[in-house]
Amino acid sequence: MKALVAVKRVVDYNVKVRVKADSSDVDIGNVKMSMNPFDEIAVEEAVRLKEAGKISEIVAVSIGEKKCEDTLRTALAMGADRAIHIETDTKLEPLAVAKLLKAVADKENPQILLLGKQAIDDDANQTAQMLAALLNAPQATFASKVELGNDKVVVTREIDGGEEVVVLTLPAVISADLRLNEPRFVKLPNIMAAKKKPLEKVALADLNVDTATRVNVMKVLEPKARQAGVKVANVAELVEKLKNEAKVI
Ligand code: AMP
Repeated sequence: MKALVAVKRVVDYNVKVRVKADSSDVDIGNVKMSMNPFDEIAVEEAVRLKEAGKISEIVAVSIGEKKCEDTLRTALAMGADRAIHIETDTKLEPLAVAKLLKAVADKENPQILLLGKQAIDDDANQTAQMLAALLNAPQATFASKVELGNDKVVVTREIDGGEEVVVLTLPAVISADLRLNEPRFVKLPNIMAAKKKPLEKVALADLNVDTATRVNVMKVLEPKARQAGVKVANVAELVEKLKNEAKVI
């Protein structure tokens, strides 16, 4: 059984991004980039399924600039078997990414497609859902547990106020949530070994996919600065302020 895992190169989660002076976008020049944290969880899950003997091959896919190769090498170091890089310098919307992933899936025929629940740069939370729709495959988003059988997969999903357990017929699309697992620390020998694993380049044009932009970003703004808080001496003062200043009680 084959797993396809989508990994996106994004601004590292520790970086505080700044808005460009002309408000056209955020400024990501010279900032640290890493694999999207939810994608790391997706790769880890695929590797654990392989270690448990449930799947035999893991293919990692990334779409984006040349440097996505680094992200794919990280996936290979974590345990993916081979990688596919669709290189483009154009910023793609989730629909375009979903169409490209579908094109790869049509060729690779994976039984399980693992994605992150959302990319922490655009926070779209759309690609997995769109991919499932394009493939006409069942989907389980926000997965916190994955139990893979021969032709079915049981997924526990994180939903408001609890959990939902769904059974999907394979092939299926799953998006990883935070509690699914804790990704392993990649050791140096694995990083070295990953350099020898196959990384295939696919030209975007060869996939014959319409990647036209449909959403126009008008402006990107910093969030409003929050007002400093005040310290109150006692509960009586707190109640007085809530009543007379904030007028919330
Ligand atoms: P999004 O819908 O943009 O929040 O992204 C959800 C998930 O789709 C990510 O966690 C990735 O698994 C996958 N994804 C989105 N964009 C890309 C990309 N450029 N390359 C590879 N995977 C991607």
